[in-house]
Amino acid sequence: MGREFVDLIDFKSKEFEVCDLGQGAGRGVFSRKQFKPGQLVMEIRGQVIDEADYSSFYCMDLGKGRVLEPEVPGGLVNHSCDPNCQLVQLGKFHLGLEALVNIEPGRELTYNYGWPADVGPQKCYCKSLKCRKYIVDPKELPRLLKQIKKAKKKKSK
Ligand SMILES: [Zn+2]
Repeated sequence: MGREFVDLIDFKSKEFEVCDLGQGAGRGVFSRKQFKPGQLVMEIRGQVIDEADYSSFYCMDLGKGRVLEPEVPGGLVNHSCDPNCQLVQLGKFHLGLEALVNIEPGRELTYNYGWPADVGPQKCYCKSLKCRKYIVDPKELPRLLKQIKKAKKKKSK
């Protein structure tokens, strides 16, 4: 499923709604009810792809060379460096989002994508005070910054 296709999908349920973020920031998934810390917010199902070099904008790592291409709304949940949800593995091919904090209705749902530095610099616009400026796993940030420095040096030569 290409990004363009996913972006066209409207989604609204008792629990969630896909909304425009405005200012060209794309779309996000918003809660329509309250979730308590530790509560399962949503299950993320989709297509399991068993190709080592497969990659897409939305895919999620399942380990052992497998990725999950999530269905809406799971695939539209945005990254934040200070998220209100975390990704949990519910089954072998089945992920979920669990609330980290109390989530009031009307709040955007977010989780930390935790991308490795190898993905390259992807600017983050989460606007949280803890923003790392790039969508990357906190542990991988030093490695990513090194990569960026190196790339800059190469350019200036
Ligand atoms: Zn951020």
